[in-house]
Amino acid sequence: MNAPRYTRRPTRQIVVGKVPVGGGAPITVQSMTITKTADVEGTLQQIYALAAAGCDIVRCTCNEIEAAEGLAQIVPRSPIPIVADIHHQYKMALAAMEAGVHGLRLNPGNIRRPEHIKAVASEARDRKIPIRIGVNGGSLDPELYDKYGGKVTPEAMVESALREIAYFQEVDFDLIKISVKASNVPLMVEAYRQLSEVTDHPLHVGVTEAGPPPAGLVKATAGIATLLLEGIGDTIRYSLTADPVEEARAGRQLLEALGLRERKNVDLIACPSCGRAEIDVIDVAKRAMDAFGDRKIPLQVAVMGCVVNGPGEAREADLGIAAGNKRGHLFVKGRNVAVVPESEMVEALVEWAEFIHEHGTDAAMARADVEKAEREAAKDRSALLDAKGDDANNATEKIVEIRRRSS
Ligand code: SF4
Repeated sequence: MNAPRYTRRPTRQIVVGKVPVGGGAPITVQSMTITKTADVEGTLQQIYALAAAGCDIVRCTCNEIEAAEGLAQIVPRSPIPIVADIHHQYKMALAAMEAGVHGLRLNPGNIRRPEHIKAVASEARDRKIPIRIGVNGGSLDPELYDKYGGKVTPEAMVESALREIAYFQEVDFDLIKISVKASNVPLMVEAYRQLSEVTDHPLHVGVTEAGPPPAGLVKATAGIATLLLEGIGDTIRYSLTADPVEEARAGRQLLEALGLRERKNVDLIACPSCGRAEIDVIDVAKRAMDAFGDRKIPLQVAVMGCVVNGPGEAREADLGIAAGNKRGHLFVKGRNVAVVPESEMVEALVEWAEFIHEHGTDAAMARADVEKAEREAAKDRSALLDAKGDDANNATEKIVEIRRRSS
């Protein structure tokens, strides 16, 4: 099935390091390191882990001179572009540019003096370094907060961004992207909608302070996915209270799930399990996920609890395995290809995935004894149907027990 296409709102393009943002470029994934930026080795280690998990652009705080000095050493060794996060001290923005960063993030609520904003923008203009105007609902300019009745509103957030753009325009600087994040999902969604009506600068989309997973993941996905499906957003960040690698993975997975980025890693699908399950599906799926990790095998792989329905329900998957009668039945594009002992299901799945990735589906079918595998699967399927029939959950037995206890 072809991935549905969403119409993206046209935006201008900027380039962060070598990564284009906006103007029809692939939507990128961002994250932020949580190490002290002065800790060069620790920060680089985290950046490499983030890049391996699908992060395209990474932000590091530049809150003190030691951080700027750290950036000077981090930038040349980083595999992905570095954006310096600046709050309060505009001089840190100047120091970060001197260190060679590929982008800046300024919070207009925290750096408010026009001469400071313009000094940073002039320097960025001369060095051709893009700046994100990062409006945050939690740190809105107090004057705007008062103007909008002591509340954070979408209008106030948009006005904050537009004011900053006006300062930038005064010094002829337009390498801009913008975010208007809030932790309240309907508020941020509305702010981005309004912003996208009045500007064509690329937008960085996120729900700020979304919190720990799973609630944080749900909140961030609700906000980001809603906007992406409306064509709004050129780069995204999950702000989770978790290892930032989880943020990068989530961002990447969301874009792949929406068909907005090419699949890079395994897309593991699994049945939710039911009374027919012949294995602990949760455990096998988790072990399979761990075994594939961040390996670059762009296939859809299925783990199904029973051979009765599994291969049919997952026939769209490139490869899958279903349990039956203490055996694992491997299938490729819905056709049975091999039978392995239940204890070797995960290993077999990984081995076949590697083979298909390297040699293709036809070669996998050619090496399989499809007839034998289908015969074995049919045998196990009918054995299971005979054993369980329609009563997969042993309901008859349970009803007798329920009646006995309640009589
Ligand atoms: S594949 Fe089998 S075990 Fe999994 S949900 Fe479907 S019927 Fe139940």
